[in-house]
Amino acid sequence: MSDQTPLIPYEWPGTYYFGEEEYAAVKDVLDSRSLFRFYGPNLQEYAKRLEKDFATRLGRKYALAVNSGTAALGIAMGAIGVGPGDEVLLPGYLWVSCVAAVVRAGAIPRLVDIDDTFCMDPEDLKRKIGPHTRAVLLVHMSGAPGAVDKIAQICRENKLFLVEDCAQANGASFHGKPVGSFGDMAIFSFQLNKNMTAGEGGMVVCDDLKLNRRAWAFHDLGYPRTDEGRLDVSDPEFHLWGQGARCSELSAAVLYAQHKKLGRITGDMRRAKWALRAKLEGIPDMKFRRIIDPAGDSGPFLIMTWKDRETCLGMVEKTRAAGVVTGPIGVNNIPMTNWGMHIYYNNGSLVGKTSNSAAGRPWNDPLNAFASGYSYAKGTLPVLDDLIWRSSMLSIPPVLSDEAIGKIAAAFHAAAKA
Ligand SMILES: *Cc1c(COP(=O)(O)O)cnc(C)c1O
Repeated sequence: MSDQTPLIPYEWPGTYYFGEEEYAAVKDVLDSRSLFRFYGPNLQEYAKRLEKDFATRLGRKYALAVNSGTAALGIAMGAIGVGPGDEVLLPGYLWVSCVAAVVRAGAIPRLVDIDDTFCMDPEDLKRKIGPHTRAVLLVHMSGAPGAVDKIAQICRENKLFLVEDCAQANGASFHGKPVGSFGDMAIFSFQLNKNMTAGEGGMVVCDDLKLNRRAWAFHDLGYPRTDEGRLDVSDPEFHLWGQGARCSELSAAVLYAQHKKLGRITGDMRRAKWALRAKLEGIPDMKFRRIIDPAGDSGPFLIMTWKDRETCLGMVEKTRAAGVVTGPIGVNNIPMTNWGMHIYYNNGSLVGKTSNSAAGRPWNDPLNAFASGYSYAKGTLPVLDDLIWRSSMLSIPPVLSDEAIGKIAAAFHAAAKA
């Protein structure tokens, strides 16, 4: 812990933008006594309006608001029908929810290495595609996509479903095309750390009517709804099993207001991050994470890869001592090996192939016998293992001042000279 005043305000970007709009929307919902999205005495339809705005921004036909990003991932797996006998390819730099969605669907996750974008390496993706591969779960990590164009192309050529996890990159784009518009489906999270937030929340988007209808059934009670908001049991094709992930009108009200500010939030983070990056240019033995399209970076993280582990740990230690930290509960300026369940080998349940029940599924399901030799232990992804071992990261709040940017840069330059 540093003995200096923290130079970096806490992350949780969306919270800095809470204002009259969020308060007014929440008051609307309470005043109308209509907190359930499908009916109520005077429904304000915030979930519906949020979905409309969200789909329009992404150029998507359908959007479905849900109660978390983790739920959204499970719904996407359900909608495309992933199950036992299927394998889903995903990068080793991810979040535990990505693996959980595949495992809970009864399918097998298979790890793909990353490249210097810190996102999935398209070349390793090609090598990992096999006869059981059904889908690719592409995770746009730490604010910006990797080679999403190439990966989308590979998925098309191999007839694989592409699901984008945009939880960490809401508002990012790739040469002008927003993330969330490349895959068959895409998901978002509105948890506190994400670019816009209501504390909890998520979104599922797609263009296909059937995928959309299945997603709606899964997020609810397993059945579609009528125009009056009541369960519709008329179509046997939609007698499914739901997972209870509906979005409350209270959350939707906050998110409706936040969504209108998303461009401002990501713009402020991007400006702060790239101003700092410019000032850190020239530090010896350090390379920045490669961002293919800087204009499309949503900005919440800055990743630096050092010559070796020792340099990485030394730079983190010295700059932390100089005040490059947040308050006591912040996670910032850390070696990436400490970045928890974002790193595949830090997921105990994955490495240990654990199961939620004594039956040991999905690992010992006879339909999944093809995967019995898969390992998830450290050593599985050599490029990731090397990059993470000697990289450090900063969280960039949108309210980082020019003065703080100058001091942080000075601390890194001083540490590099010492
Ligand atoms: C945060 C996150 C999720 C899960 O979102 P929750 O809303 O916390 O369930 C999924 N994927 C990634 C990459 C995330 O960062």
